[in-house]
Amino acid sequence: MLIVSEETCREVVGRADAFAAVEQVFAAMARGDAYNFPVVREAIGWADALYGFKSGFDKAGQTLGVKSGGYWPHNGGKGLTNHQSTVFLFDPDTGRCTALVAGNYLTAARTAASSAVSIAHLARKDAKVLGMLGAGHQAGFQLRAAVEQRDFEKVVAWNYHPEMLPTLQAVAEEIGLPFEAVDRERLGAEADVIITISSAFEPQLMRDWIKPGTHLACMGTDTKGKQEVDPALLAAASVFTDEVAQSISIGEAQHAVAAGLIEEAAVTPIGAVIAGEHPGRTSDDEITLFDGTGVGLQDLAVAAVAAREAERLGKAQTATL
Ligand code: NAD
Repeated sequence: MLIVSEETCREVVGRADAFAAVEQVFAAMARGDAYNFPVVREAIGWADALYGFKSGFDKAGQTLGVKSGGYWPHNGGKGLTNHQSTVFLFDPDTGRCTALVAGNYLTAARTAASSAVSIAHLARKDAKVLGMLGAGHQAGFQLRAAVEQRDFEKVVAWNYHPEMLPTLQAVAEEIGLPFEAVDRERLGAEADVIITISSAFEPQLMRDWIKPGTHLACMGTDTKGKQEVDPALLAAASVFTDEVAQSISIGEAQHAVAAGLIEEAAVTPIGAVIAGEHPGRTSDDEITLFDGTGVGLQDLAVAAVAAREAERLGKAQTATL
């Protein structure tokens, strides 16, 4: 069995690797060649933690496994990030455990790859201004992956806690893009692509603030009750997702569906666009919205890259169970 550390994952899985792995697995899901198993997520009654499993099987990529972990809100004082996760990979022919892969960096990498894939396939080609709503741990990863998809000239950003914005500004400046903190109305008026990556439980962006032609990647809502945008925005947009079942139950679409503003059939798996079965954006004025809920197969796809590359480069430890 291979053991791949956080440090090695950072070294061997770059943004392009994560993008390719996530794009491939989304397409495999849409073809029915890869499936996620039901998610388990429970409050454990200790340390205010939420703990669970995300698992699946990608027949096309021959990747079987489980990501185990969750959210420990008091980790900050212990020098640890609040989200903690570990991926186990298994041989699909025998069930033997083949790799134990650290999952914290990979979670951020695969989540950033997911919105980047949506921008690559759905945003207008002439998009120039990137809008960021959210400035927490994930936001920098999101920004770095997004700017590789279009010729962005500027970043505008808003965050619920404005004191967190300078960290995101430093990322934009490191990339060489001007950065401006703006109010939410201006974010909507200026941005051609908007990424929302917050832990909000109520709409942060209203339908009327969003201009025609915008692409939104709504990445923060991954639990029942969370919400980042006005449900009317989903009714006005062409809605895409990683997995429809999650989108309408724990993703951003849960609210628009519950309010009767859209139906399940209006939500398209992005894999269908990647596979060429759905045209994606069909006009420059269309608002497209990607509801990125986060599926286990994304974790397994990037963990498989980490295990393969770590082994190839002699950077994996080995152990016998
Ligand atoms: P974080 O704790 O580092 O940052 C939280 C962000 O949410 C900050 O920008 C903060 O200012 C903002 N926020 C906090 N309370 C808010 C409120 N009441 N209203 C509006 N904004 C508020 O978290 P993170 O690791 O950056 O993750 C951000 C979100 O993305 C979380 O909700 C997390 O669960 C989600 N997430 C989704 C996926 C996915 O695959 N879709 C993957 C990882 C994380």
